[in-house]
Amino acid sequence: MDTQPNSPEARDIRYNLHAYTNARRHQEAGPLIIEKGEGIYVEDNSGKRYIEAMAGLWSVAVGFSEQRLVDAATKQMSKLPYYHSFTHKSHSPLIDLAEKLVQMAPVPMSKAFFTNSGSEANDTAMKMIWYRSNALGQPQRKKIISRQRGYHGVTIASASLTGLPNNQISFDLPIANVLHTASPHYWREARPGETEEQFSTRLAEELEKLILAEGPETVAAFIGEPVMGAGGVVVPPAGYWEKIQAVLKKYDILLIADEVICGFGRTGEMFGSQTYGLQPDIMVMSKQLSSSYLPISALLINDKVFEPLADESNRIGTFGHGFTAGGHPVAAAVALENLRLIEERDLVGNAREVGAYMQQRLRELSSHELVGEVRGIGLIAAIELVADKATKAPWGQPGALGALTNGLLQQNGVISRNMGDALAFCPPLIITRAQVDEIISALKTSLDEALKQVK
Ligand code: PLP
Repeated sequence: MDTQPNSPEARDIRYNLHAYTNARRHQEAGPLIIEKGEGIYVEDNSGKRYIEAMAGLWSVAVGFSEQRLVDAATKQMSKLPYYHSFTHKSHSPLIDLAEKLVQMAPVPMSKAFFTNSGSEANDTAMKMIWYRSNALGQPQRKKIISRQRGYHGVTIASASLTGLPNNQISFDLPIANVLHTASPHYWREARPGETEEQFSTRLAEELEKLILAEGPETVAAFIGEPVMGAGGVVVPPAGYWEKIQAVLKKYDILLIADEVICGFGRTGEMFGSQTYGLQPDIMVMSKQLSSSYLPISALLINDKVFEPLADESNRIGTFGHGFTAGGHPVAAAVALENLRLIEERDLVGNAREVGAYMQQRLRELSSHELVGEVRGIGLIAAIELVADKATKAPWGQPGALGALTNGLLQQNGVISRNMGDALAFCPPLIITRAQVDEIISALKTSLDEALKQVK
């Protein structure tokens, strides 16, 4: 790290409070400053190149140097740099993108609503659900069930839906009306001898018990990521979504699919809902929608949600919700071009094909002494590190081995992210087999180096 008083590193420490960072440790450790990107690679300010094996934050589908997105932004910026959708106003990118998303949806959807981040979109989903319950004359139906280890964002409502301690401790969260049910992580949570199907059945039974204990008439919705991302990449066990949805149907509880990571190809289908047979009433999307070149997120809602909401807005006089930059024309134009690229280049097919290769190559590491589990689908995966394969015990403090290996991997030219002891891999959808090989080779070296340090 450059420690000169006016180096970018020193000024970063002086002026920035970083997201998801130990602020005290940052004063010592300093930042990794990324200057530019090309394809799946990024380069830091010393000229060192890395494979961005997290696609930024699970989000840069088309890589870090897509000129067509730059051109789409420039063109829209020159024509109409800003407009909004309040009070009956609209603009072409908003109309085109809404139409495109409703047509792409794997289940019948009625309307799109635009926001700027995954968190805002999930907040909006929660507000829509409360509004709908009031519209239906069911003011008691306000509870939303989420899952432990689910990740839905960091605003007050979405951090409440999130089922991870770091998003709630000392923030006085969760708020009322949010309940959490068990995480579907078979390898960690299943009882000895339980099959995946049996585990899924038990989780569905636990969900039903929770609903009955709370009173089914008080439960409005269930939210889940088809594949959990930030909770450590948790792939649902066999039969899970089918059994969960059967319970939801029985009690007329809405399903919100949080497609913020899975959406637009990540799992090898356009949406995670297709991969796992979800039939959501609301779909939440962001990240790969614009490859994160600009902030944009969207909700798709079906008529079960839209119709009562429309009636309630008519009764009150307005749907009193919306963001200044929601559906921003430049972000919407970039999103449209990004979706065109995903389709033209069959990046969903690439996620399926190169994804299967990445999964196979990662599974070859299962025999490594430090690797407890390899899990994933398409181009999203994690390896979970343990000190003892039999007991699944961590090495020292939980997360220490993950952080150590993640640091070594970064030195070896690959950016991953450790969630506790799970190292995640979620590269841009344009990745090739040869580039997967580069990741695996750096990962092998890093695991061996970590092993030397801990044994
Ligand atoms: N939902 C999921 C599934 C996510 O992975 C994320 C972010 O990682 C969010 C919501 C929150 O999105 P944002 O960080 O844009 O608020």
